[in-house]
Amino acid sequence: MNPFHRIPGRRFLHAPGPTHVPDEVVHAMSRQPMDMADPRLDQVIASCEQGLRRLLQTECADVFLYACNGHGAWEAVIANLVSPGQCVLVPGTGHFSDSWALQCEAMGVRVLRTPWIEGEPIDPAVVEQMLREDAGHAITAVFAVHTDTASGVCSDLAALRRAIDAAGHPALFVVDVVASLGASAFAMDALGINVVLGASQKGLMCPPGLGFAAADARAMAVCEQVTTPRYYWDWRVRRSELAYRKFCGTPPQTLLFGLQAALELMFAEGLESVLQRHRLLASMVHAAIACWSRGGQVDFFARQPQARSDSVTAIAVAAGIDVEALRTVARERFQVALAGGLGPLNGRVFRIGHLGDINAPMVLGCLAGVQAAMAVQGIAFGPGALDAAVERLARG
Ligand SMILES: *Cc1c(COP(=O)(O)O)cnc(C)c1O
Repeated sequence: MNPFHRIPGRRFLHAPGPTHVPDEVVHAMSRQPMDMADPRLDQVIASCEQGLRRLLQTECADVFLYACNGHGAWEAVIANLVSPGQCVLVPGTGHFSDSWALQCEAMGVRVLRTPWIEGEPIDPAVVEQMLREDAGHAITAVFAVHTDTASGVCSDLAALRRAIDAAGHPALFVVDVVASLGASAFAMDALGINVVLGASQKGLMCPPGLGFAAADARAMAVCEQVTTPRYYWDWRVRRSELAYRKFCGTPPQTLLFGLQAALELMFAEGLESVLQRHRLLASMVHAAIACWSRGGQVDFFARQPQARSDSVTAIAVAAGIDVEALRTVARERFQVALAGGLGPLNGRVFRIGHLGDINAPMVLGCLAGVQAAMAVQGIAFGPGALDAAVERLARG
């Protein structure tokens, strides 16, 4: 298996990010850059901002686009919303809530965490309890990850909003939708979310390199008071009509061409259809795993069916199974790229991404490649997985 020789046909990219990029997006990016004064460039930027607002379902939040990945968007949110020494509450979802919390601490922010229970979503009752205990309102914000990509668990944002309200706590509600936007239902204004952040390379079907944040009026007022030294990330500077200030320098034009095209594709398909497609594809994957699990060596990592994400599924493997070897066989022999486990789940799960520019035959090809790789590796799995996925597809 020489990883560098050419393999005929398509490779199946089933990481939860970066994801497959549609041809329309690739083509949109194969354009020469524009000069900075070209009004067409302003049009592209405006269309990305408006498109993101529409996708996030917010009327008037300010949208800030950055030449960065998801970690950059985290940094932007921390720098603009929390002064050093202030405190945020990070409900535990797994690797991504842990990483975000560590980044907060690295920037001098105090972090309170709710415990992460493996395979479970955020418990809103625990969040409510911790907010109630914070009678002095030291907690300035709740930083919640919608879908934790490492565990494939999606938490209930409406329930979190109710928990914050029930505690009567004024903390800002800040949500990471890097892995869920464009795959799971989301509505910033209706959910009472003050700040949202995301990145280009997952449900948004673009290459990595663009991050964004959207902030409502309350968050913008907080941003005015925050003392964190910042310049590149600063919403006060970036809230401008001038492209050069919006981006604190030259806009990442090529990626913006791509994002504009990707948003157009989503609106042409219809947002409800996009979500329905993701639900169907996720349920095909789930149907297959339910069959595989009867062999006793692989199973869902997410315990509660309703908390299983429409973007990515983590599959727990029995002790002794070499996940990296399985991934290598899947990628090199069967052209199916899977993700491994992150942080505490390293070596304990593999993950199938099913988000973005993806359809049913791609998912079936992926499932077939995974099953073939399990067979090669001598992993026991129950029969009928592919048939179950096809039946699920046929039911619609
Ligand atoms: C991927 C991901 C990130 C980090 O994004 P990068 O672009 O890798 O920095 C953050 N949060 C969630 C939920 C993610 O899935």
